[in-house]
Amino acid sequence: LLVLGIESSCDETGVALVRAEPQRAVPALLAHALHSQIAMHRLYGGVVPELASRDHIRRVLPLAQQVLRESGHALADIDVVAYTKGPGLAGALLVGAGVACALGAALHKPVLGVHHLEGHLLSPFLSADPPEFPFVALLVSGGHTQLMRVDGVGRYALLGETIDDAAGEAFDKSAKLLGLPYPGGPVLAQLAEQGDAQAFALPRPLLRAGNLDFSFAGLKTAVLTQVQKLEAQGPEVLQARRADLAASTQAAIVEVLVKKSLLALRQTGLRRLVVAGGVGANRQLRAQLDAACQVRGIRVHYPELYLCTDNGAMIALAAAMRLQAGQQQAVCDYAFDVRPRWPLNALPSAA
Ligand code: ATP
Ligand code: MG
Ligand code: FE
Repeated sequence: LLVLGIESSCDETGVALVRAEPQRAVPALLAHALHSQIAMHRLYGGVVPELASRDHIRRVLPLAQQVLRESGHALADIDVVAYTKGPGLAGALLVGAGVACALGAALHKPVLGVHHLEGHLLSPFLSADPPEFPFVALLVSGGHTQLMRVDGVGRYALLGETIDDAAGEAFDKSAKLLGLPYPGGPVLAQLAEQGDAQAFALPRPLLRAGNLDFSFAGLKTAVLTQVQKLEAQGPEVLQARRADLAASTQAAIVEVLVKKSLLALRQTGLRRLVVAGGVGANRQLRAQLDAACQVRGIRVHYPELYLCTDNGAMIALAAAMRLQAGQQQAVCDYAFDVRPRWPLNALPSAA
């Protein structure tokens, strides 16, 4: 079963082809192609929705052609076309949905709308060390921060989530305050490597609340206060302390993510943790989770670095895993729709 996946929920256009085989537990990634719009949006300091949609339209078919070429397959070989149905920017989602339905209608093949976060969540199955169900998932992306109990494809129980900003948003907003370019997460992380993580005492909201919820909005305010204090002492003072402040910010975010993940593992009694989403690429987060889990005998799984942020492979994978798990293919009338807001735990189980 060959599944073509199309991702266009935000600022990357991704297309990929996976093959699902009955005898293999995890579908195989045959080819993938990605175009990131980061350079275009950087001029504006964030994603401009209208520009995002237009760029997806320009990129998606050439990327699909690239994927077919690289995999050695023809358009007619595709069995199912999957696209990101939500959550995300409505106009951007409509590009992937429209193209997927047009391809499906032309090929007389079914089309499947995929939940973007299910894609992130399942992306570690494409790694060299894939997880097994059940597990606790730490979903840390630009728009979401959630802990879930995962018992199978589509069997997601929300354990806790952020009550304000997402972890990726905390990285990006703090980075902006430090004068770093969009998206600030990876740039802040890089700057933090040269800084002292203990230099500034920043808040760890809800760390001792005993629940599995997160709050990162206060951190951003604390970073702003520090930036203003340093700036008041002169631009060279701020410049000299930026790495320290970046390291301290990263340490605050990472500590909360690690401690809450451990609490979720303790509360559920599960011995396996799966990390997914863009912030899952963070080296400090990985190092601290590895260390904490190793002493407790807990297995941790991550997506490959190139699959942490948005991509088409995770969308093709999620569709393929649903079909493999026995999900019935709905009769498709190609009347595509998107869901800009769509909670992950509202999804039905695959089988
Ligand atoms: P969502 O998936 O919730 O809709 P999104 O698709 O924008 O949001 P992702 O693509 O999963 O989110 O991840 C992007 C986020 O990951 C950005 O906030 C970015 O700063 C952050 N990020 C990426 N790499 C790193 C890193 N090394 N350290 C910290 N943050 C990172
Ligand atoms: Mg992105
Ligand atoms: Fe995403």
